[in-house]
Amino acid sequence: MPDHKLQIIPLGGLGEFGMNSMAIRYGDDIIVVDAGMMFPDAELLGVDIVTPDFGYLEQNRERVRALILTHGHEDHIGAVPFLLSEINVPVYSAAFTLALVERRLEEHSLLEDAKLHTVKPGAKVEIGPFTIEFIHVTHSIVASMAVAITTPLGVIIHTGDFKVDPTPTDNELFDLHTFADYGKRGVLLLMSDSTNVDRPGYTESERGVRPRFEEIFYRADRRLVISCFSSSIHRLQLILDLAEEYGRKVAFLGRSMLNVTEISHSLGLLSLPDGILLRPQDIMTSDPAKVVVVASGTQGEPMSALSRIAVDNHKSLSVEAGDTVVLSARIIPGNEKGIYRMINHFAKRGADVIYGSMNPPVHVSGHASSEELKLVLNLLRPRYFLPIHGEYRQLAKHAALAQHLRGAGLEETFVLETGETLEIDHNGARRGEKVPVGRVCIDSGSIDEVVEDIVIRDRRHLSEDGFVLPIIAINKHSGKNETLPEIVSRGFMSFEDGSELLQAARQVVARTLESSSEEERTDWGVMQEKIRADLKRFLSKETSRRPLIMPVILEV
Ligand SMILES: [Zn+2]
Ligand SMILES: [Zn+2]
Repeated sequence: MPDHKLQIIPLGGLGEFGMNSMAIRYGDDIIVVDAGMMFPDAELLGVDIVTPDFGYLEQNRERVRALILTHGHEDHIGAVPFLLSEINVPVYSAAFTLALVERRLEEHSLLEDAKLHTVKPGAKVEIGPFTIEFIHVTHSIVASMAVAITTPLGVIIHTGDFKVDPTPTDNELFDLHTFADYGKRGVLLLMSDSTNVDRPGYTESERGVRPRFEEIFYRADRRLVISCFSSSIHRLQLILDLAEEYGRKVAFLGRSMLNVTEISHSLGLLSLPDGILLRPQDIMTSDPAKVVVVASGTQGEPMSALSRIAVDNHKSLSVEAGDTVVLSARIIPGNEKGIYRMINHFAKRGADVIYGSMNPPVHVSGHASSEELKLVLNLLRPRYFLPIHGEYRQLAKHAALAQHLRGAGLEETFVLETGETLEIDHNGARRGEKVPVGRVCIDSGSIDEVVEDIVIRDRRHLSEDGFVLPIIAINKHSGKNETLPEIVSRGFMSFEDGSELLQAARQVVARTLESSSEEERTDWGVMQEKIRADLKRFLSKETSRRPLIMPVILEV
């Protein structure tokens, strides 16, 4: 066998938050661990999701052997359809993760040709020069796995996301034994989750939220509206169990909530007590003291169930004074504004809103704090260490955390950003050549849950389709728009001065405003999103073009 080098090629998730993807190459064989997405910042208005640029893999398409998924969070699987539509490689992961992926592939008509392979913890798969063992870890989503990749040069461990939960709610323990075994035999390279490196001590067990939830159920004498990530099966189970104990029925709202509960129930990961479910259309006619509503949208996403409930624009639920609203999730940095706006709406409706940090907690993190990170470092005692999943400051801090292993076999740590590579051969490890990486903005056009084909909107497409600025002047006192909205455009050829299309588009915006509730109209974030969605649908139907649409709302 020729003397190849090993290359570690981060395609996303190093030096940035989200869109995790790591390519590992030995000679002419490449495997990819995770293909995640990132939710765009507010600045990227007009774009629904962001994925890594898989250009490196496309250039090496005949070398890519497999995609391995550690777990089912969006920042690890969200870009799978976009990768598979370019390179249809076999995918290996747990049944639950693959079930989530299947839904996505189905939406994009990619499922039929997909090669999905279910693996269980403990399974070993041989792919080219790599032998991959899947190892169960604990995290905020079920069926999370680390991978041990045995290569001709030694073993690479990729932890995926994890925390070391000593008392997981499903009693599936973190497989520390297998970690220790690999540690004893020698680990060439460790890549470990850095998300919570800033936190001292240990992350609380998922069971830590039970006391707070018990208190909430005990105290509430009216409707309970709880929002958590739809993938938090552990937490959904807790809510279902407490609802049964306290004699409440549970209604799920939001597409992702319904999808995930269905999948996890069918795989036996979520048990639904008999007769516990309440149909959404029966929420308002049921005794408020006997109802729990579980809604998606913890991050204030403008079109999510929870956001719509907040502005009283959901067909199944109207929150009333005395109801309790619980946000059981962390506030992802960048989303503060939208979340607080949503909480303000609930507070104005007279609801008691429970959110943020408190003791006992209403939410616990799924990522390891510094003591757990050290525990994993100590068990694996790698020769080389590459912190992953985090911004640069977190990667640097995680690298520093490993310094005590210098006398215990650690030769070097590397802090790399996406696109910077690591090379390992018989002489050691060093930084390698950079590979081209980047972000691809995708406009799924599915804001009203209508699924369309994949439309990849690289930002350079802007120059083809141009942009459109609807300008709405709202009277500060009446909250109404008194004149027809104006529309300014650049590079969008279909809008000639005075054209019929332009006039019709102005009417579309006016109709969106008219059909919105008073509460929505006072919320610029919601209005911008609604106007964008409606106008986008109209223009794409009339012109088959997708200009960037940025609504501007002025108070006059
Ligand atoms: Zn993650
Ligand atoms: Zn995760």
